[in-house]
Amino acid sequence: MNSSLGPLTDGARVVIVGGGPGGIGTALALNNLARQMQRDVQITVYEGKVFAGEQHFNQCSGVLSPPIEQTLRDGLGVAFPHHLVQRAITGYILHSDRRAILLESDDPPSYAMRRVQFDNYLVEQARARDIRIVNSRVTDIEIHADRVIVYSESGNDQADVIVGAFGSDDGSAVIFERATDYRAPRFLASVVTKLHPREEWMNNFGNHIHAFLPAMRGIEFGAVTPKGNHLTINVAGEFVNAQMMNRFLHSPATQAVLPCLDEAQGDHDLRYFKGRFPFSQARAFSGDRYVIVGDAAGLMRPFKGKGVNSALLTGTWAAQAMMTAGISARALREYHRACREITDDLPYGKSFRLLTIALCKTQLFDMVIALAAQDARLRRMLFDAVSAHHSYRSIVAKMLDARWLARMAALSARLPFQKNDRLDKAASNS
Ligand SMILES: Cc1cc2nc3c(=O)[nH]c(=O)nc-3n(C[C@H](O)[C@H](O)[C@H](O)COP(=O)(O)OP(=O)(O)OC[C@H]3O[C@@H](n4cnc5c(N)ncnc54)[C@H](O)[C@@H]3O)c2cc1C
Repeated sequence: MNSSLGPLTDGARVVIVGGGPGGIGTALALNNLARQMQRDVQITVYEGKVFAGEQHFNQCSGVLSPPIEQTLRDGLGVAFPHHLVQRAITGYILHSDRRAILLESDDPPSYAMRRVQFDNYLVEQARARDIRIVNSRVTDIEIHADRVIVYSESGNDQADVIVGAFGSDDGSAVIFERATDYRAPRFLASVVTKLHPREEWMNNFGNHIHAFLPAMRGIEFGAVTPKGNHLTINVAGEFVNAQMMNRFLHSPATQAVLPCLDEAQGDHDLRYFKGRFPFSQARAFSGDRYVIVGDAAGLMRPFKGKGVNSALLTGTWAAQAMMTAGISARALREYHRACREITDDLPYGKSFRLLTIALCKTQLFDMVIALAAQDARLRRMLFDAVSAHHSYRSIVAKMLDARWLARMAALSARLPFQKNDRLDKAASNS
């Protein structure tokens, strides 16, 4: 054990709580940096779930977006698991209650896969590099001046520094809140289900994710994502529940996209799962001898998108700060600086989210879609917002163009827009 709070040196020990992309990302980046710097750093990851054999899983639609291949290869030295890809996603169809529009770009595709298989792949990559994986839940931690003590369901451990990569797990957040100044972010709830239509129907579904912004009370957004042999459907909102999912599944906009529910599998047979998205930044997400990464730090774009990318990146940045700056609260400001790529965008994302909610609830999003059907620049902005390929800040910067805004105002006055316009028209015309 090294009592200094400086950069991790020979013999240093790191314990990581959570073996999702945030935890394994941190472990792989630490392992790479330690080898490059010729330091022997012992890394242990505690993961309560068993991903092998798909016994347990983390809630996710499993869509991995660019630049995931570079993030894995350049940041972590791991090849992208192309063998796990079930479908390449080439674009989105964005739906309001009455309209829809196809959003595509020349950007590289996203990849849909089973998230549990991706998590298992990353864990195996870590094992192959002699990173110790302990299949056990951490039940408590103590942070002392010279060390961290970690209690788990299979014994205890000691380390120089602890990494919290526990996602949206409430119990683990409480453990860290008790031991440190950390305060968990706020979360949106999400209900997820799967539908298994006939093979022929799935083959004709296309490679687009259908994103929904309904005016429905309680639902902020919904999505229908095509995978290999099934559709993953999710809705999100602060207090979203199974009843709201039922309403979403039976709404006309969703029904226009889904196969007949009874035919697909009988809707009473649908199994619902619950997950959560952070939508604010955690407080004090690092301090003396601890650092929090991924969802647990709230370091994900608000609204939706690229949570896996953010978890891998924040893990990489945390590892760099621990190896080069140190493990004190002061040294880990280096980590906060790196995270500004995400945190600086959060206020823009929040404003975007509030604006979108307001437009949806007043049914004005129908108008936005009608405008986008006529304006390529607006379509590109919507694509960037939905795909999360660009920061909200850059989208806002593009919006704040007086000539373009005037053009949009003139166009909206001329729109042949009627309340009952059918959706598919805008989508097929685009
Ligand atoms: C419905 C839904 C759909 C989503 N779809 C996408 C998508 O398509 N693409 C995308 O990029 N992102 C998506 N996300 C977001 C993405 O899932 C998260 O952003 C990402 O998983 C965050 O990674 P993480 O490592 O921080 O946390 P997690 O992936 O949640 O990993 C945390 C791990 O910590 C373990 N753990 C927790 N507490 C303990 C403990 N005390 N001891 C031991 N282990 C512990 C858990 O078992 C878990 O494996 C989605 C999220 C939801 C809810």
